[in-house]
Amino acid sequence: MQQQITLQLSPKDASDSACIKEQIGLAMALPTSSISGFQLLKKSIDARKRNVLINIKVNAFINEPFVEINLPKFHFNEVHTALKKVVVIGAGPAGLFAALELIEQGIKPIILERGKDIRERRRDLATLNKEGILNEESNYCFGEGGAGTYSDGKLYTRSSKRGNVEKVLQLLVHFGADENILYTAHPHIGTNKLPKIIQQIREAIINLGGEVHFNEKVIDFSIKEKKIEQVICESGNKFDADEVILATGHSAKDIFELLHKKNILIEAKPFALGVRIEHPQSLIDSIQYHCPVNLGRDTYLPPASYQLVEQVNSIGVFSFCMCPGGIIATASTSQNELVVNGWSPSKRNNPFANSGMVVQVHETDAIAQLKTENRKQSINNPFVLHQFQESVEKKAFDAGGGLFVAPAQRMTDFVNNKISTTLPENSYLRGVHSTNLKTVLPPFIFDSLTMALVAFGKKMKGYYTEEAIIVAPESRTSSPIRIPRHPDTLMHPQINNLFPCSEGAGYAGGIVSAAMDGQAVATAIAQKHRIKETD
Ligand SMILES: Cc1cc2nc3c(=O)[nH]c(=O)nc-3n(C[C@H](O)[C@H](O)[C@H](O)COP(=O)(O)OP(=O)(O)OC[C@H]3O[C@@H](n4cnc5c(N)ncnc54)[C@H](O)[C@@H]3O)c2cc1C
Repeated sequence: MQQQITLQLSPKDASDSACIKEQIGLAMALPTSSISGFQLLKKSIDARKRNVLINIKVNAFINEPFVEINLPKFHFNEVHTALKKVVVIGAGPAGLFAALELIEQGIKPIILERGKDIRERRRDLATLNKEGILNEESNYCFGEGGAGTYSDGKLYTRSSKRGNVEKVLQLLVHFGADENILYTAHPHIGTNKLPKIIQQIREAIINLGGEVHFNEKVIDFSIKEKKIEQVICESGNKFDADEVILATGHSAKDIFELLHKKNILIEAKPFALGVRIEHPQSLIDSIQYHCPVNLGRDTYLPPASYQLVEQVNSIGVFSFCMCPGGIIATASTSQNELVVNGWSPSKRNNPFANSGMVVQVHETDAIAQLKTENRKQSINNPFVLHQFQESVEKKAFDAGGGLFVAPAQRMTDFVNNKISTTLPENSYLRGVHSTNLKTVLPPFIFDSLTMALVAFGKKMKGYYTEEAIIVAPESRTSSPIRIPRHPDTLMHPQINNLFPCSEGAGYAGGIVSAAMDGQAVATAIAQKHRIKETD
């Protein structure tokens, strides 16, 4: 017999399978010897009370042989000679998962990626981190695997209704991720493990007959009778396309400019902008797990995380992409523009906890701010939020003094509008420069953040502290531009074979939702061809 059981255990007991078996036996009033094994279905931390507990849900095997959970088999087709060719622009999570889905549907994907493969990309990141020299085509956003590769690899998404989260996680396990991502409440892979998984996906795509071209930056399309005929790259190479998936991410400004130049509709889209905040991890552990800072957390507990949200004068302020045991990284894609973000390794074993803390930005806010900078705005300018974002990134770069050194301030000094005489130790590799961030951030962002930080200090005692550092700016939370598409066909309203996809087009945010949107677009393409064939 098999039975699903929920247990609440100490962190130590929850990490010991013999102990879990014993607890299953106790819960069912059966001898432990009758429990042949269990499959873990869900695992989460309950830290609401002083005594932190682990909730687990298991499928217990009682008096019958134990069977491991079997991953579903994926039916990938050989597409070497497939007649339909889909050009996928961008090898981020959206592009790669779109390609896998196309292969499952018997369609050949041709991926064009402006950046380099993972190994070469790693060298460019080392040069950026050590010397402050940015390669505009190969960085934390551009290159194999997109912005997802050297990220924290958090796989949690709120958009579970938009696609099949399970399938994305199962595919990641199929390509080498640890099976624990299938049952933990907040799954995460880690920067050190993601590259290998991405590489395995690329190798599978190529072995099955798809194509992956690196150093192919798309710069133009030839369009005839409302259809893209060819995709044109900076190298001079041209690729014929039956359909085109545009999955170029939120930082491909040149793609937005290309579409606008060709009168292909794009629209301004609200986004969020703010700062990255870093505390000692031991402090966040002590707040979340109710333990003394000097003693540290229970060794069986992972580094603690947090999620904060506050409305300040009707403006939303929220934490974003929290990285326990992480590093603050330079996520810029252009010279003289500074962007920070965060990542962590699989063990999350760095001594710092960083998180984005961002404020919602609407078109009216951007127009008002740009006016104060004497930048006139035409009505319906799709780039208005983009210009706002760029303006903050340039100011931050200048305030840091160049070479991607970041302007920074202690949290308490930030709230009290005072320059910090010293800055706390921190993880940002390019170094920090003490700055009054009020000179970098637009007033409504600065004011909303200062009010929210004090409120967060009341919600999480100890969060508001001079030990925390604020580094600016966290400005690439999502795309400030949307590329419209029909809600059913997922096609652009003007171009009959262009499928705007994922984060850059405004339909996803984060690795899992990007992957799901890639799958959705690939499915829409397969559907379009099935309909055509039956006509
Ligand atoms: C440092 C960092 C940490 C992050 N941490 C997490 C996390 O822990 N969890 C999470 O869910 N999300 C995280 N994110 C966000 C996540 O990575 C993105 O949401 C996700 O990668 C978006 O996927 P995408 O495929 O839509 O776009 P992207 O990943 O941005 O990929 C777009 C690709 O298109 C390519 N491209 C752009 N223009 C062109 C062109 N003209 N021609 C050819 N190719 C082009 C780019 O080089 C890039 O490879 C993080 C991001 C960063 C930068």
